[in-house]
Amino acid sequence: MARHKYIFVLGGVMSGVGKGVTTSAIGKILKARGFNVSPLKIDPYLNVDAGTMNPIEHGEVFVLDSGLECDQDMGNYERFLDQSIPPENYMTNGMVFKYVIDKERALGYGGKCVEPTYHITEEILRRINLSIHKSDADISIIEIGGTVGEYQNAIFIEAARVLKLKHPNDVLFVLVSYLPVPDKIGEMKTKPTQAAVRTLNSYGVHPDIVIARSNRPLDNRRKEKIGFSSNINPKHIISAPDVDSIYDIPLNFEKDGLSSTILRLLKLRPKQTDLEDWRKMAARVKDGGPVVKIGIVGKYFKTGDFVLSDVYISVIESLKHAAGAAGVKLNLEWLDAGDYEKDKSKLKELSAYDGILVPGGFGERGVEGKIAAIEYAREKEIPYFGLCYGMQLAVIEYARHVANLKGAHTTEVNKQTKYPVIDIMPEQVEKMSKADYGGTMRLGAYPAKLKGESIAARAYGATTISERHRHRYEVNPEYIDILEKNGLVFSGRSPDGVLMEIAELPRSRHPFFLGTQFHPEFKSTPLHPHPLFFAFMKAAKARAGRK
Ligand code: GLN
Repeated sequence: MARHKYIFVLGGVMSGVGKGVTTSAIGKILKARGFNVSPLKIDPYLNVDAGTMNPIEHGEVFVLDSGLECDQDMGNYERFLDQSIPPENYMTNGMVFKYVIDKERALGYGGKCVEPTYHITEEILRRINLSIHKSDADISIIEIGGTVGEYQNAIFIEAARVLKLKHPNDVLFVLVSYLPVPDKIGEMKTKPTQAAVRTLNSYGVHPDIVIARSNRPLDNRRKEKIGFSSNINPKHIISAPDVDSIYDIPLNFEKDGLSSTILRLLKLRPKQTDLEDWRKMAARVKDGGPVVKIGIVGKYFKTGDFVLSDVYISVIESLKHAAGAAGVKLNLEWLDAGDYEKDKSKLKELSAYDGILVPGGFGERGVEGKIAAIEYAREKEIPYFGLCYGMQLAVIEYARHVANLKGAHTTEVNKQTKYPVIDIMPEQVEKMSKADYGGTMRLGAYPAKLKGESIAARAYGATTISERHRHRYEVNPEYIDILEKNGLVFSGRSPDGVLMEIAELPRSRHPFFLGTQFHPEFKSTPLHPHPLFFAFMKAAKARAGRK
């Protein structure tokens, strides 16, 4: 068997320039050449996982099949590689330090002096190796969060240096750097990248490849300039201009022959590349057909447009996948739930949409506005798709306005409600009383059984499914009877029948009104769009066609 190979992806100059997507795209082009790849994300935070981080601070919390709450980049990896990634492929500073300190407290180091630059670096390497066995991978691609020169990720770069020392021929460093084009100067500047390389050099690490991110392509002159000043082969400097669709990036990398460069540097024998399906999909996602207008009703919208794509990245990508498959051009708009609370007449604007989606969420803010939007979508027969909180709020709306349970609510918002149609799961009560918040929701993949002939079963083409969860509340079993008698169909349930996983209205009453307790957005990939997103998009397309 060939020796295992490691590619470290590091950030220079500044963050937020697409290191996660670069890592995913490198994984994709290597997988397309027949290698098993295992992408890892290292986050420098002291949080033990991403579950306790506010999405506005850190973007979406992505959930793996295992239930680990992690960084949104893990979602990019899964989407690009079409594979379920094990929890061993994510680590934070907090996770690593906690393990080492707990082990030390249990005399696990036999009385030795436990030190960061040995015991912590060895623990980092132990975790990387654990992930290899789990994935049976040929190549690990390890993204180190943040940028070089920050104190908080220095220990991870040190671990990478040690790995290179142990396996000089098997470790490759990729620096993702940004080349600004200042308005007044109008010229692309290479100095920040040169400085980033020098900073990396001070750790004893030298980049083999530079991915040059910018708003325009890099010319040969600049490749040579960086190459000369930073001691890098200009052929190993890859131009990565801004793109309309992230799914073009693997194809762009291949225009510069990136997979061949990587395989040559790692002394791996190249195989024929197979990106045909990907090429077709990338074209589909961009082309589209008739415009379909989808409104997302949520609450994180007033913090500025730039955060949105991070907070709801999996939902946005799932909609894009479905739009590509349904042959429509997606027009996505953000609707602030708060607006509908202040002014009910604003709800009329929803008529202009072909589909309304309420994503997952927590707490009280915006809830009444979301419920009002759901009521409008139900009454005006606008396709509606609710994810997690979006399903719970749809159940509340139905209870209040159809089943006549006035004031029905979730106990998350109103503990005194007369009709707690959504209530905390019994096993959560004790955890909450002990302030045990980290990693304690109902998390990760659970199976569900679907009712034959339901919209859900028809969409999946199956009656047993597995989906990922992240919630503490559920549909209160005491209200299922009355809700069903009033026409709401619980078409998906946990195998023991206790937990309601999907609520829907029959086709005879509404073109598409469906909510899921789980998060389907965590399992949609561009090559395999999620069946429920696809069904929602088809219903929205039909409405767009009637207008
Ligand atoms: N707040 C709800 C719960 O905890 C929904 C969670 C979510 O949308 N992810 O059950």
